[in-house]
Amino acid sequence: MADVGLVLRSTRVITSSGVRAASVAVAGGRITAVLPHQAQPPGGARLVDLGDDALLPGLVDTHVHVNDPGRTAWEGFTSATRAAAAGGVTTLIDMPLNSIPPTTTVRALEAKRAVARPQAHVDVGFWGGAVPGNVPELKPLHQAGVFGFKCFLLPSGVDEFPQLSPAELDAALAEIADLGGLLVVHAEDPRLIAGAAAPSGPRYADFLASRPREAENRAIAGLIALARRHRARVHVLHLSSAEALPLIAAARREGVRITAETCPHFLTLTAEEVPDGATEFKCCPPIREAANRDALWAGLADTTLDCVVSDHSPCTADLKSADFGRAWGGIASLQLGLPAVWTEARRRGHTLEEVARWMSTAPAQLVGLRTKGAIEPGRDADFAVLAPEESFTVRPADLHHRNPVTAYAGKTLYGLVRSTWLRGTKIADHGTPTEPTGRLLERQPEA
Ligand SMILES: [Zn+2]
Repeated sequence: MADVGLVLRSTRVITSSGVRAASVAVAGGRITAVLPHQAQPPGGARLVDLGDDALLPGLVDTHVHVNDPGRTAWEGFTSATRAAAAGGVTTLIDMPLNSIPPTTTVRALEAKRAVARPQAHVDVGFWGGAVPGNVPELKPLHQAGVFGFKCFLLPSGVDEFPQLSPAELDAALAEIADLGGLLVVHAEDPRLIAGAAAPSGPRYADFLASRPREAENRAIAGLIALARRHRARVHVLHLSSAEALPLIAAARREGVRITAETCPHFLTLTAEEVPDGATEFKCCPPIREAANRDALWAGLADTTLDCVVSDHSPCTADLKSADFGRAWGGIASLQLGLPAVWTEARRRGHTLEEVARWMSTAPAQLVGLRTKGAIEPGRDADFAVLAPEESFTVRPADLHHRNPVTAYAGKTLYGLVRSTWLRGTKIADHGTPTEPTGRLLERQPEA
């Protein structure tokens, strides 16, 4: 079938070389050219004029817990990828735990792919898991196309995905280094967490005290030493303690291959504002004080922090009881990450270009997706169309993830996602997802 092509025209196209008025030509699902704003569309191409709405590269969210199969009452591929599409996310990488089976064998990976394939509204890739005893599985998983391996240093919250002991971590990282792979880590020190008073009851302050920042700092220091020793690539997931930033910055200056991400909730919410009993704000590591949030923004500005990704980790509403000791830890924000981060970014004088780098370009780079993460010829025609000056109030009923519990309920956010495009096809229009045209992604061998 002849592809007559498409042109998206906007006065604010966020390209890899700056913001400009441009017409972006698309054919065969790829960007073919970034043309002057008033350029005549190539013969027969359909012109979509976006006016002053900003055209961003589609977001790449490398930290999503879809939980399918096995815990589909919590979330599933249809609901998660619909939420993603509505929120401007065109690629997500699924975490290996909370689904049953967890993605710790090739067989489990294939089971997850079979379930995801017909449901995907956006492109979906998979992390593998490193758990006790599965070192022999890491190479087959790597060859089968997982984007890297996740591990825990302390209990994960689900029994079927145990943490690694220090010796097991060392063995897993040695293997991953041999493969040229990537280890992504939930970095909290188990002894320091075990030594803190266990949380119970509705007070957020008690929960916060149970997950001290020193636990993150110490775990990250240990990971830096391991990455250095194995010359391995290690990535710190969901960094909350800003005190760890100088350690990471110093390690990188010295050539250690360590990167770090943070999350919309750490950048936009503060411990001071969490009401007692409001366990929709519970996650591990926790949302910390306002001064810590300021320091995380400084870490983004000085590029110590590479990416901002959701750590979307929902559960059923009943598991979010008012007791911080018992409630499931996880914040669901897949659909809201872009407006949440943009709202705080604009207040602090950051640009949409920076937001696109944190939420699209850098996460695509982290997982080696060379066809994602930028508006330039040759990349996939994945876009988020954003009205940056328009605001809205978050209503859980407008969210597409399965259990629309959210820490952002009632908040007024800037940045309305008008539409989302995947390989040149509109997959969401004014918050309503359309066709499930997503594909499954595999890690691309290094160029
Ligand atoms: Zn997570």
